[in-house]
Amino acid sequence: MSSLKTCPFDKNHILQAERFIVHLVRCQRNHPNVQVRCPHNEGHIIPPGEMETHLNVCDTRALSELKDQQMVQKPVEQPLLPVGESWDDDPDVGTYDPNNYCEQNLVIRQPVNLTKAQRKQFRLKERERLEKMDNSTSDGSKP
Ligand SMILES: [Zn+2]
Ligand SMILES: [Zn+2]
Repeated sequence: MSSLKTCPFDKNHILQAERFIVHLVRCQRNHPNVQVRCPHNEGHIIPPGEMETHLNVCDTRALSELKDQQMVQKPVEQPLLPVGESWDDDPDVGTYDPNNYCEQNLVIRQPVNLTKAQRKQFRLKERERLEKMDNSTSDGSKP
């Protein structure tokens, strides 16, 4: 004798376990407005009216929420410029008043959440930008 299950749509439907899923699919058509499947796990068959209770204890939900939390709490990567690639040893920059320099160029923009290739491009562009500024200011200051 196999175990019996009660149809979540109709308590009068008593089914053998191996026929349970087949019956559910058929019976669902007669009850299109009744939600019996856990939104977090299709394998969870929830009797009507007990969905809320189940959602509080559903282990799959706990797992998926944990995942969401981890994604939210994932620390923002703030890549620092690698040592040795600093612009400071760029001869084109020359001597400058650091305070004045910072005022003119604002703060050096920090690349955030970029791939390695994107960071490289960013650095190249940033260098171009600074060089242009350096050129234009030194040209403009000369009579
Ligand atoms: Zn049924
Ligand atoms: Zn569930």
